[in-house]
Amino acid sequence: MIDQFSLLKDLSETPAVSGDEFRVRDILAKELRPLVDEVRFDKIGNIIATKHGKPNAPRIMITAHMDEIGLLVKYITDDGFISFTRIGAINDRTLINRRVVLHAKKGDLHGVIGTKPPHLRKKGDDDEKVAALFIDVGAKDRKGVEKLGIAIGTYVSFDQRFENLGGNNIITGKALDGRLGCYVMIEAMRKLRKAGCTVYAVGTVQEAVGLKGARVAAFSLNPDAALVLDVAVAGDFPAMLLHESPVNIGDGPVIMLVEGAGRGLITHPIIRDLLVAAADKLKIKHQIRVSDAGITDAGSIYLTREGIPSGVISIPCRYIHSPIEVASMKDVDGAVKLLVATIKAAEKVTDWVHKAS
Ligand SMILES: [Zn+2]
Repeated sequence: MIDQFSLLKDLSETPAVSGDEFRVRDILAKELRPLVDEVRFDKIGNIIATKHGKPNAPRIMITAHMDEIGLLVKYITDDGFISFTRIGAINDRTLINRRVVLHAKKGDLHGVIGTKPPHLRKKGDDDEKVAALFIDVGAKDRKGVEKLGIAIGTYVSFDQRFENLGGNNIITGKALDGRLGCYVMIEAMRKLRKAGCTVYAVGTVQEAVGLKGARVAAFSLNPDAALVLDVAVAGDFPAMLLHESPVNIGDGPVIMLVEGAGRGLITHPIIRDLLVAAADKLKIKHQIRVSDAGITDAGSIYLTREGIPSGVISIPCRYIHSPIEVASMKDVDGAVKLLVATIKAAEKVTDWVHKAS
């Protein structure tokens, strides 16, 4: 449990804003290398770890995205404040009065995003909109900022510690969206060393900005099928209504049948049946759902080449796309079991073309 916690903590706290994923990729490389036959990085920045299976057995790609939402330095004012652009979908209010880390040329630096004190705010003030927000790094002027190695294009991530909440296996931190999938992928590969299928474990880049890394990895590997690991929007807190997302943390991994009301993945029937049968056989507590919003890498993988049969295993997560995401370790462990069992069952599939039954 201690090792499990420290790997998750490391994955959550390590910065990897879309386009700048190399630090998380290094963790994946270190963890996956002893578990597979071959590890390589492709040109867009994905990591592809391959475990060869029996000849003629299915080749399955599993993916988890390495990137997280964050900021990018847009310009520096004469008086030494930093304006930024958002990378990925971020609520303006998530940024207000937050500590950030700037990944400058000369090393990581702390900054804060400040606003007017409440005493002076008037109705209609727009100082809390992203265009008016700025990062303060304590510099006197633009030269002072530049001296710190900060330039246009410098990546900025949230400064947030990973923690246990209470004593109920509940965790909180930044980038659980993405890194929980990375963690499940690593843990599953530990258990798949003798699996019959060839398994490609892929850490993808640039998911939060258009499902990009997964698309090129799927094209290059051309697998028989794909399973994507990501998070599902949990709706079990007061701000959410049941119909918005009937997903609870602690009730097991989610088998997502349709994403984004059909704009994302529509799970391939053979994959759907494999997932549900594996969950039932091993009595893995799970939630079968469809979603109105939110799509994953599977949305671009299943449209690659002639269509790659795909499915998603999602871990319920509260407060997605904020630095204080909350999830349950029970669901994470359930997702590992479900993934391993599904890949083992996939070994018997000889034809991935679905025929009506
Ligand atoms: Zn995600």
